[in-house]
Formats: sequence, structure tokens, C-alpha cells
Amino acid sequence: MIHLQNVTLTFPDGDNRITAVDDVSLRGDNGTVTGITGPSGSGKSSLLAVAATLIRPDSGGVLIGDGGAAIDAAQLTKREAAALRREQIGIVFQQSNLLPALTAREQVQVMGRLGGTGRARRARIDARADELLDAVGLSEHAGKRPHQLSGGQRQRVAIARGLVHEPQVLLIDEPTSALDQERGAEIMQLIARLTRERDTATLLVTHDLIHRDLFDDLVTIVDGRIVQPDTASPGASPAVGGRGEAAIA
Ligand code: ADP
Ligand code: MG
Repeated sequence: MIHLQNVTLTFPDGDNRITAVDDVSLRGDNGTVTGITGPSGSGKSSLLAVAATLIRPDSGGVLIGDGGAAIDAAQLTKREAAALRREQIGIVFQQSNLLPALTAREQVQVMGRLGGTGRARRARIDARADELLDAVGLSEHAGKRPHQLSGGQRQRVAIARGLVHEPQVLLIDEPTSALDQERGAEIMQLIARLTRERDTATLLVTHDLIHRDLFDDLVTIVDGRIVQPDTASPGASPAVGGRGEAAIA
């Protein structure tokens, strides 16, 4: 589980500071996809960077884990945060950020080996890398380098790489923005399936609201703040629909 509690993040902006994330609270449970949407510049990537422990917020908590065992990642040192990322957090960015010289299999293996390189662990990671490449439909392309793969296939490698260390939290930023609609739909379905199979708490930033049926929850962010859905409309589920979507239409 990941629980963002009253997260506020500012950046320096000339003599002032700009508030990128403004008192945002949201919770992602294991085995669920929480969609995060909103206009460009509204703070979605900043929020994900805080969730990923890549940026420490000005204030607020980033609880990772369940109940009493949860850790507040916002309180960790850089070194502790890096260790937490290697164990508990998978990250998939907008661009797949693959290393040009490595094959698909090696991209996934290398990420798994960051957590240690004992021989037994290595064998385990390599087996898991192959299993994940199979799960994302790339077994036959495991020996290919990024330039030999399509955009959708590269994104699949990035997803496998994000899952190789069996993270509890999976954070994905606009995974379909460089893909056509059909390829984008496949990636969204893949993320939803893997979230259930691997029981990750997945936060997914996206503009593609045509896929919202795949999300368990949807929050809309405008100017760094969560916009409350219009719960007054009949049949509206608590977190989906209403004003939030209208705001980005
Ligand atoms: P989104 O992902 O929704 O498009 P971002 O989180 O990238 O939005 O940006 C939110 C706001 O924070 C924007 O005004 C952006 O210019 C600003 N911002 C983002 N990252 C930085 C940074 N590293 N330094 C200064 N300002 C930033
Ligand atoms: Mg962004």
C-alpha cells in the first residue's frame, strides 16, 4: 500500500516558490490501479516523483507498506530512500529510458541486480527476468536491443524492468503518450493485469481516460490540488466521474 498524506512540494521560481503539489492525500491499495489525471503542468509528475522518493516533499507523509509496518519515506535519508526504492518501488517513466547497448533481457536483469549480486540471487533474478519478459509478451524478443524494438515493445521492457525486484508499489508516468491508440490500450491492459497478478499498489498518471474502466480509482489534479469529483451526480462512484474529468476535457 502507498498512502500520500497531505503532500506539499514547492520549487524555487525566481525570488518566489511555485507550489507544484498542494496538500494532496491519496491512497493506493495493493492489487489496484489508481489513475491520476489532469492538465499539463498540474503537478502529476511531481507527485509521482515524491511517491517514488526521488524528491522529498516540503511537508506531508509518504507511507509505504501496510499498517504498523508502514515506513514514512518522506523521513528517510537519501541512502535509505535508495534502498527502499530497490526493494519496494517500481518506476516506469514516459520515455522507456532503456540503455541502448543492452538487450531486453539484460535491461531487466541489470535492474534486479542493483539489490545485490550473490550467485543465488543472480540466478533468481535472471529466472524472474525471463518470467517477466514472458508475462509482458516479449519472450521471443528478449535478445533484442532497444533500436530493434517498437515503442510499445520498449515500454513493455520498461514495465518488466520495473517489476523485477517484486516491488509493492508501481509508479507509472504517461506510459502511452508515445504510442498509437491500439498499442496504448494494450499497455494499459497489461498494467491492469500485472497489478492484479503481482498485487502491486499502482499509481498511473495518464491522459487516456478512455481506459478508465481499468482503474479502480481516478483522481484529477488541477494546479497541484485534487479536484473533488461531483459526488452529487446519481450513480457516480466516489472517485470516478464528474467535474474532475470535465476539467481536462
Ligand atoms: P505535470 O506532470 O502534471 O505536467 P509537473 O509535475 O511536471 O506537471 O509540473 C508541475 C509544476 O511544477 C509546473 O509548473 C512545473 O513547471 C513545475 N516544476 C516541475 N518540476 C520542476 C523543477 N524540477 N524545478 C522547478 N519547477 C518544476
Ligand atoms: Mg508530467
